[in-house]
Amino acid sequence: MRTHDDLPAWSARAAAWIRDYHAGLRDRPVRARIRPGDLLAALPPAAPDAPEDPDAIFADFERLIPGALTHWQHPRFFAYFPANASPASMLAEQLVAGIAAQGMLWQTSPAATELEQGMMIWLRGALGLPDGMTGTIHDSATTATLSAVLTMRERALGFAGLTDGLSGAPLLRIYASAHTHSSVDKAVRLAGIGQANLIKIPTRADLSMDPDALGAAIAADRAAGHVPAGVVFCAGGTGVGAFDAIGECLPRCDGLPTHLDAAWAGSAMVCPEFRDLWDGAAGCESIVLNPHKWMGAQFDCAVQFMRDPTDQVNTLGLRPDYLRTLEGEDVVNFNEWTVPLGRRFRALKLWFVLRAYGLDGIRSRIRDHVDWAEALCERLRDVDGLVIASEPRLALFSFACAEGDDATEALVQAINADGRVYLTQTRHDGRLVIRVSVGSWDCTRDDVMCVAEVVENLMRAGAGAVASG
Ligand SMILES: *Cc1c(COP(=O)(O)O)cnc(C)c1O
Repeated sequence: MRTHDDLPAWSARAAAWIRDYHAGLRDRPVRARIRPGDLLAALPPAAPDAPEDPDAIFADFERLIPGALTHWQHPRFFAYFPANASPASMLAEQLVAGIAAQGMLWQTSPAATELEQGMMIWLRGALGLPDGMTGTIHDSATTATLSAVLTMRERALGFAGLTDGLSGAPLLRIYASAHTHSSVDKAVRLAGIGQANLIKIPTRADLSMDPDALGAAIAADRAAGHVPAGVVFCAGGTGVGAFDAIGECLPRCDGLPTHLDAAWAGSAMVCPEFRDLWDGAAGCESIVLNPHKWMGAQFDCAVQFMRDPTDQVNTLGLRPDYLRTLEGEDVVNFNEWTVPLGRRFRALKLWFVLRAYGLDGIRSRIRDHVDWAEALCERLRDVDGLVIASEPRLALFSFACAEGDDATEALVQAINADGRVYLTQTRHDGRLVIRVSVGSWDCTRDDVMCVAEVVENLMRAGAGAVASG
């Protein structure tokens, strides 16, 4: 690997390896089967002083790495949420790696900035968001939500927090549903607002934030002399897919800025028939969704749309002398919209993916995932000893053992020890439940139905009755 001339042969070898890896995934257990420390122990204790031969490096890669991977692109990965990746995205990422541009300013790579602007326009249209919204790409939804919460903080403080700090500032309050993702907790902690000032609003039977409770909480805080700073909604909660009734809640927000966390479910809004689920989204100041979860543009690709980026730029943007450019206001310098200064060229994979599959290709995949999740749910509903713990929301539902948590825990462990599928658990309504989240790029209906086969086998073998055994 002395010069770039060595790259074509090695890239071809890597591409062939990638093709074979994907072709063989169904024969591998989804989850890594090593003990903690195994891989670390297999590494030499220090970096080599002398250059090593690429053949030796590649051989060690093949020997050590694949067996220590949990295969996120496995067609039977149903854990967490998907982080799906299409071949077109992989190709774009290879080019991005080869270019290795750092797109912090327009000037430091106009293509990175302008393609990002273009993709935000394409995506906005694809999701049915209003023309006025502009967007940017972050590494993760966590960073986008932190950016939105920092902006809420500074709006509430008249932008004085940036210079004066928070000591002596009034108590700020942020409101979110009880189904909100932990990234919102992290954002209020890191923003100096504090966990105790994130008010989790109770949810109704349909798992949506109670609008009356939201209005009452804001009013009570104002009466107590606190300063309400913003509301975070969720569309597609991580546990069991809760959706807030945004349209109903907005009039109860008392004019506060709003941010919508649609990290997972947002991609599904390319399908018009699902948009009722986030009705009112267009009225939020800020929305985050992760094309890296369910649109085939691999990690990292978290898109934040804003009705007006001015406050966020005033919060996060900083122009020391060495970053000043002569283009002035004619160009966008995206580092001023985000937390890190450096920026990867993330728009290229969106461009490749949206063109290689078209919106129709992406829609049909998402529709299949939703249909198959529903079909699997119906099949599990009929299995003796199981109960459906949360009904399908898009491609996510959960089930549990009727016997109770011990049996459910034994079942999820047995499922993952079997290795053909990978599921994870959470708590819902006071009990342990097993989540099924469909969304892998290459999964088929048979892959999804494999969950039922595995579960039925294990139940027959007594896995769901361990607690009584
Ligand atoms: C996945 C997820 C997040 C966090 O996403 P990252 O991009 O990994 O930070 C936040 N909120 C919801 C609802 C999610 O599903």
